Amino acid sequence: MQTSSPATGRVYLVGAGPGDPELLTLRAVRLLEKADVVVYDNLVSPGVLDFVPATAKRIYAGKRRNEHTLRQEQINALLVKLALQGKQVVRLKGGDPFIFGRGGEEMQTLAGSGVDFEVVPGVTAASGVSSYAGIPLTHRDYAQCCMFVTGHLKDGSADLDWPSLVRLNQTVVIYMGLNGLPEICQQLMAHGALPSLPIAVVQDGSMKSQKVVTGTLADMAQKVAQAGLKSPCLTIIGEVVKLHDELDWFKGNA
Ligand code: SAH
Repeated sequence: MQTSSPATGRVYLVGAGPGDPELLTLRAVRLLEKADVVVYDNLVSPGVLDFVPATAKRIYAGKRRNEHTLRQEQINALLVKLALQGKQVVRLKGGDPFIFGRGGEEMQTLAGSGVDFEVVPGVTAASGVSSYAGIPLTHRDYAQCCMFVTGHLKDGSADLDWPSLVRLNQTVVIYMGLNGLPEICQQLMAHGALPSLPIAVVQDGSMKSQKVVTGTLADMAQKVAQAGLKSPCLTIIGEVVKLHDELDWFKGNA
């Protein structure tokens, strides 16, 4: 989109991937290296920020659960302000900016303000975390379909389309599902999923601290509580989870 004069800056909405900096795109690295300002969320790993030159300004925008350092409107306004000052701004988000990243909302503000922008996709958690956990999201024997859903439950109660989540031969990937995990497992079983359906919860996927806990819908809430898993965690539900034992290739701390 070319809407502004050459004198104005540009905002690059860049996906930082799930953690391992090796998963950054070439485009992301090149943009980071020439950025004037980098506005980043808490999910962006320290190794990714190593690509930001010392001369660039870093602004932490927060976004931890219940702790929004900058409110979304403030972030939107900040991006517009920096671009109008002529800066090359990298708006860095974990994973892919257009998957549960509110990237669309930020770009709408920029478009509405006539600011020039570009979107650089990143490896989304579903893809990166499942790869590093050795869990293929589709497999001819187990799943012909894969759904990405948010487990961030509104007002503590679930408003997901449960019947669609319990269909056979599919994999369900749940972002932001750690706190709601007990209710999610309960609801899936109440809507007809077998209590023995395999499920994995992966903490810090693709990072040295990666932890994978596997179980079934029936025992997972207890296992995750016992393991003391902390955010960020990705939940993968479906028969494909069985492949983890065989395909577990990533030795984070090795
Ligand atoms: N835009 C991001 C998702 C943001 S929502 C993307 O495309 O990946 C934040 C959620 O993503 C977390 O609650 C968690 O469910 C998931 N997530 C992101 N990075 C992760 C990681 N390294 N390990 C496990 N889950 C991760």
